[in-house]
Amino acid sequence: MRKSVSVILLAGAISFGAAGQETHSVGTAEKFDNQKVVRISPRSIADVNLLEQISGDRWTCGAGGPNGEADYRVRISDLPLLNQAGVPYRVIIDDVQSLIDGEQAELFNPFQDRGFFDAYQDYAAVSAYVDNLVATYPGWVTRISLGNSIQGRPIFGFRATSPVPPIGGSPRKPVVFFNSLQHAREWIGVMSNLYVATQLLSTYSTNAAAREMLDTYEFVFVPISNPDGYNLTWTGQRLWRKNARVISGTVRGVDLNRNWSVGWGLSSGSSGSSTSETYRGSAPFSEPETQVLRDYAISVPKLVASIDFHSYSQLVLRPWTYQYTLPPGKVAFDRIGSAMVNAIASSTGTQYTYGGPDILYLASGTAPDWFFGTTGSVALTIELRDTGQYGFVLPASYIVPTGQDAWAAATTMITSLCRADLNRDNFVDDSDFVLFAAAYDAFLTNAADFTGDAITDDYDFVIFADAYDHFTCP
Ligand SMILES: [Zn+2]
Repeated sequence: MRKSVSVILLAGAISFGAAGQETHSVGTAEKFDNQKVVRISPRSIADVNLLEQISGDRWTCGAGGPNGEADYRVRISDLPLLNQAGVPYRVIIDDVQSLIDGEQAELFNPFQDRGFFDAYQDYAAVSAYVDNLVATYPGWVTRISLGNSIQGRPIFGFRATSPVPPIGGSPRKPVVFFNSLQHAREWIGVMSNLYVATQLLSTYSTNAAAREMLDTYEFVFVPISNPDGYNLTWTGQRLWRKNARVISGTVRGVDLNRNWSVGWGLSSGSSGSSTSETYRGSAPFSEPETQVLRDYAISVPKLVASIDFHSYSQLVLRPWTYQYTLPPGKVAFDRIGSAMVNAIASSTGTQYTYGGPDILYLASGTAPDWFFGTTGSVALTIELRDTGQYGFVLPASYIVPTGQDAWAAATTMITSLCRADLNRDNFVDDSDFVLFAAAYDAFLTNAADFTGDAITDDYDFVIFADAYDHFTCP
């Protein structure tokens, strides 16, 4: 088992330690020569554990993965260990460094005149794009600052809605929350999140669904929820995953999507070792990045749905990610998730798979489990393109098509919500009426609040009664 090498600090320089790999000094580009990505078909958890030891870097990012397969970055020199153990595997990326070299050459080619979605964009460019949206859609788009990262970078986002006022004098419409880049190397998430926002705003006057969504809801977009990690991936640490927390004098980082409180601390789905790529941190919400996202979500009177964008594997994942136990309202998740993957296939011809955690891979302490577990709102993980040909180093030509996947998925999720189905059995019937009546009697509850004012009143009754008349969910 390879241990992380502790580094003697020279002249106060902070070093970087990737799990199971060497450590690196600031400003030094980490090289991945003689490394491949292999896809294993584990026979048992023992095979998974072996890969965790010799690689430490699982590329399939979350709780999913069709058929128990998983991808790991490995050195060529470690392949004999796999062969000796008889682990079934095949090489899916032959040369990791050449992929990164190709991306760098494209990224920093000064001779190309490109639109925003023709290339990946760094933190400053994304920030400028948000300012541009604010200027293009005055009164519709509002820039927000949620707080700062551990290195002090602002975690910014924006709110987007139409001028149609909230119903019944509510202070704010119900909120849909789109978050991306908890994992720093998953660049396609940033671009897909921004693509959804851009489509939503730019098609308002031509697309009835976009108009309905912006009239009914307020959207909150946080494109870069791990700005320090993102900065590292743009400055030589292309495959950095975690945040930038310094541990024992070394930037080791915490896996932000293992740092949320629901399911936190389970060793099935996270690690207590700071050298692990899935290090959960010293306590739930130990990291400022997860704290500020949580605090913002709590500040919203009525959160109805959220998507946490990741890559890769082309999956739509429901809760729970930390346990196999089925969530309340699974049939509603199944309806919504199936509609989403069907919509993606119809839109771009790309096959995504909907489901829960794979039997060998849980993820504990994730954002969607917290959103669902805490607010009861529909909370999904989307693992974007691809299925492993390029992995995290996805060519820029995939940005627009993957954004179209995300747009189809997001619109379908929202139009499929069926919020009056309070018990999430896919029917709006008498059992929901009983639940609505209880909330209505309690009044100061948001249990059946459809308008966004965190109370259940006559305005909500009108909305519920309309849905009740129609009986079934869309
Ligand atoms: Zn991820």
